[in-house]
Amino acid sequence: MNKKEIIARLETENSNQLFNEADKIREACLGNEVHIRGIIEFSNYCCRSCLYCGLRKENKGISRYRMSGEEIIKLANEITNFGLKTVVLQSGDDFAFTQKTLSTIINKIKKENPGVAITLSVGERPPDDYKAFKDAGADRYLLKHETANPELYQRLHPGQSLKRRLEILEYLKKLNYQVGAGNIVGLRGQALEDLADDILLMKMLDVDMAGIGPFIPQRDTPLSDFPSGPLKLTLKVLALTRILTKNSHLPATTALATLDSAQGQLSGFKAGCNVIMPDFTPEYYRKDYVIYDHKRRVDLERAKELIFKARRLISADRGDSLKCRKPQEACVCR
Ligand code: SF4
Repeated sequence: MNKKEIIARLETENSNQLFNEADKIREACLGNEVHIRGIIEFSNYCCRSCLYCGLRKENKGISRYRMSGEEIIKLANEITNFGLKTVVLQSGDDFAFTQKTLSTIINKIKKENPGVAITLSVGERPPDDYKAFKDAGADRYLLKHETANPELYQRLHPGQSLKRRLEILEYLKKLNYQVGAGNIVGLRGQALEDLADDILLMKMLDVDMAGIGPFIPQRDTPLSDFPSGPLKLTLKVLALTRILTKNSHLPATTALATLDSAQGQLSGFKAGCNVIMPDFTPEYYRKDYVIYDHKRRVDLERAKELIFKARRLISADRGDSLKCRKPQEACVCR
């Protein structure tokens, strides 16, 4: 599918046909199992100023917190005690968690929970941090590219660039991380063309996973007055990403539930999603992890209920990448 065709499909009124197509590809490439990944939002400090995000450093309207290493490890152990095979460690870009501190935490989680996969979502760090975290046992890294439009990226992320972001994603791949990108749908100043570029970029990067969600305003940010991105358009982007990337892991994000608590994530499953990420952050911290407003709580019970309602199965494996990483000449599956 080329860019023109993607735009035409983003414009289509007949979205059910698109969702069915994506769902069939999901079933053929990934089966009926849904992977549950437990997420811990361990720090809401951030040194960046992303215009849409409530964790931006200029926001004085939230109480900042950092969990201790012991708290993080305890929560990770809780997640694996529930039988989950992936722990996602997420924070703002918080350098108080030094290379050594975070490596020690990763290492302890791996030692205490043999076989668990760790996904990091801790933003832009110096290259040797990524290497140290990998050596400590991290398996996956999620660094959303947010938008493939370089000018829009620059406007939304003062002091950062899309070029740098993409360099990091390539570097993470070289380090043998399973790598995730992803975008925001419905940003101010974003055209359908930009969304087509997002999808093509994720295809080109051959992402192991992708986090795709709507823009949702946060009241203490410069974009507080802008409306949320449309649910239907977000689902179309998800479906097209499924169609183009085939077997990448795609979560039905909490942001979908925030737009429509009853149907949002279920619609995500119908449009090609195969992952859900319940939140294990304790309430006294979670209330201040306000990337956007009115964030829904999706706990493990709710995640299981949604999988059941979607007539899907809970996966018992880690849900590692299904991408073939052999060199082209050694690969028999392409
Ligand atoms: S989007 Fe990430 S890097 Fe940007 S302000 Fe929010 S937490 Fe920080």
